[in-house]
Amino acid sequence: MTYNFSAGPAVLPKAVMEKAQAEFTDYQGLGYGIMEASHRSPEFTAVIETAEKNLRELLNISDDYAVLFLQGGASTQFAMLPMNFAQGKTVDYVDTGSWSSKAAKEAKLFSNVNVAASSKDENYSYLPAIADWNLSDDATYLHITSNNTIFGTQFHEFPQVDAPLIADMSSDILSRELDIDKFAVIYAGAQKNIGPSGVTVVIINKDFAAKEQENLPAMLSYGTHIDKDSLYNTPPTFGIYMIGLVAEWLLANGGIKAMQEINERKAGNLYAEIDADDFYSCPTNEANRSLMNVCFNLATPELEAAFIAEAKTKGLVGLKGHRSVGGIRASIYNAMPEVGVQALVDFMKEFRVNN
Ligand SMILES: *Cc1c(COP(=O)(O)O)cnc(C)c1O
Repeated sequence: MTYNFSAGPAVLPKAVMEKAQAEFTDYQGLGYGIMEASHRSPEFTAVIETAEKNLRELLNISDDYAVLFLQGGASTQFAMLPMNFAQGKTVDYVDTGSWSSKAAKEAKLFSNVNVAASSKDENYSYLPAIADWNLSDDATYLHITSNNTIFGTQFHEFPQVDAPLIADMSSDILSRELDIDKFAVIYAGAQKNIGPSGVTVVIINKDFAAKEQENLPAMLSYGTHIDKDSLYNTPPTFGIYMIGLVAEWLLANGGIKAMQEINERKAGNLYAEIDADDFYSCPTNEANRSLMNVCFNLATPELEAAFIAEAKTKGLVGLKGHRSVGGIRASIYNAMPEVGVQALVDFMKEFRVNN
């Protein structure tokens, strides 16, 4: 048995992978796979409509919002947001990790960026308290990263602000209950928690979207994709199909509420083992710990390398921390079963005793 703790692309639900495999070469009696079907065919139309419907149901997304399936990854959203809404305007960014910092860097190409708060001074090991953010009076929007995939921190509450709130939820979308109405835009590269790489989900308030600026390239305008229901050009059809299957799997397993409870148990189990004594240590501020990416260290880089190598022999893979921070990172997205986390915890106990 292999348990894949990779940060992304990452584990997908076994049942989803098996369903995709079963209909890979013959989609529901068509005689060919959905990957081979036209994006304008009735079969694919049903796929994209179902994927959207399932996401709307899971997250309780109202008709005030469009749900888009785009390409270019979350990284393209970093540029599209300021390009569409904030050319020559002031925007607030909260800098809580490499991804937030990259998002702000792209915004600087178009906008006057105010970094309202940053935790770079302590290697992004904590989240600056919301009350201390230095927000602009006239920000076109406020951008945050809800879960910092590399550093293992996560917002457990969101700011109540006047400016439209935009969140990069690439690594925690669909992991917990969410009040969509608090956000102007939510976006997520699918490859962490909702599907394969190559498709980006964007949930955007239509009134906010209507403020789009002029003279944008068609592919880089939200309006284009809203008007054409993500079918202006050929969308990432197979990825959308996979998101639909993942969403269907979530609905069949109790939806987001059930998933959140499981995610809290999984993370609780792992952090309890890390905190049990000084053998393992967690570099992040306790109140800001991520339920998705659990980062920890051992006494030396050598011991960490030994841990990763030995874990691999037990089928526990993908545990190496991001190259910029080192250490260990266990990504325990929705599709990581509780038994997988338990197998890691059991191995951690054994490794402690032997070392
Ligand atoms: C992985 C990740 C990204 C980058 O996503 P791409 O789809 O590779 O562009 C951006 N933000 C966060 C929070 C991520 O985890």
